[in-house]
Amino acid sequence: SLVLVTGASGYISSHTVETFLDQGYNVRGTVRSKDKGEYLVNLFEGKKGKFEYAIVEDIGVDGAFDEAVKGVDGVAHMASPFHFNAEDPEELFKPAIKGTVGVLESLKKNNPDVQRVVVTSSVASVMNSNIKPPHTFTEKDWNDVSPKECEEQGKNASGQAKYRASKALAERAFWKFFDDNKPSFDGVAINPPLVLGPIIHQCDSPDSLNTSVAVYYSWLKGQKTEKDLPAGGMNYVDVRDTALAHVLALTKSEAGGERFITGNGPLSGNDYVLEIAKDFPDLNHIPKGNDDSEFKKKLTAEAIIHDGSKATKVLGLKYRSMDETLKDMGTSLRERFNF
Ligand code: NDP
Repeated sequence: SLVLVTGASGYISSHTVETFLDQGYNVRGTVRSKDKGEYLVNLFEGKKGKFEYAIVEDIGVDGAFDEAVKGVDGVAHMASPFHFNAEDPEELFKPAIKGTVGVLESLKKNNPDVQRVVVTSSVASVMNSNIKPPHTFTEKDWNDVSPKECEEQGKNASGQAKYRASKALAERAFWKFFDDNKPSFDGVAINPPLVLGPIIHQCDSPDSLNTSVAVYYSWLKGQKTEKDLPAGGMNYVDVRDTALAHVLALTKSEAGGERFITGNGPLSGNDYVLEIAKDFPDLNHIPKGNDDSEFKKKLTAEAIIHDGSKATKVLGLKYRSMDETLKDMGTSLRERFNF
């Protein structure tokens, strides 16, 4: 069968395309340029499934996906801007919301026989930043705080609020489309926290690294100091587990209509520096971490948790270890950027 993956040139989506191809699915990926498409054709040569690309320059434009959706059996809609530098919230809202609803409308118009659409949402659509840790968020929770901050403050809202609101509003619009239109196909949302692990997508310079890997890169390059530690409070998941979650979500019938947090628990800057010291002892400009087990336990106990157990229960998703995620990410970055 043929699956459409939007924004296929991205960090998570390129892994998702790879996982689909490895499992024997054929994939059509949307990219913004021929150059990005050809990079992927090269990358995926010799895979079990066949890869092709379609150019969609801007997902925020009316009818952007009208052609790309033709003939596909399922869709993973992953394209959406992820950065904290937007001036006007609309810069993010338009592609995030119009892109999401646009895929669904194009399907309704040109391919109503499609079976399912999986959208890459985020814990940004789940979390409430007014709630102080320790606290556990589940799929029942919705982030209404960031959209409100953007509504009240517009351009003056924080960069994080603008991004988080774009994800929350896009996922709300996704579910509303199903309520309003009752199409014959159904939907699933995947809500990852910070996604980490090796890069396989086109990225020629560290300056153009995707947002989540760029955070780790700055630790790996010694751009952070002891003052920045312990930098707790995040949750994370491996990019390969996130990719597999999309594949499982598209294929497991029980997943229809559900949201899934794909979270493998808390992670801190302290974890980064300890792992870097273990895996790459030659990088000796890294601030020293604290390996004391009581200290580490306390950091975890003080963290927000995005509970990823439903994805294990319903999708059968197993999370790989933090060691593996961080080591493979470091190795891939050192290989890519030669240091
Ligand atoms: P990337 O920036 O690597 O991928 C984003 C993709 O979306 C790119 O292919 C990008 O194309 C495309 N895109 C963005 N805006 C447009 C537009 N207006 N028109 C067409 N294409 C567009 O980031 P990630 O892989 O991290 O993000 C993928 C998805 O995962 C996003 O929906 C993000 O919100 C979500 N997510 C990411 C997390 C993370 O920690 N990385 C955590 C939770 C959710 P191009 O590069 O050509 O601009």
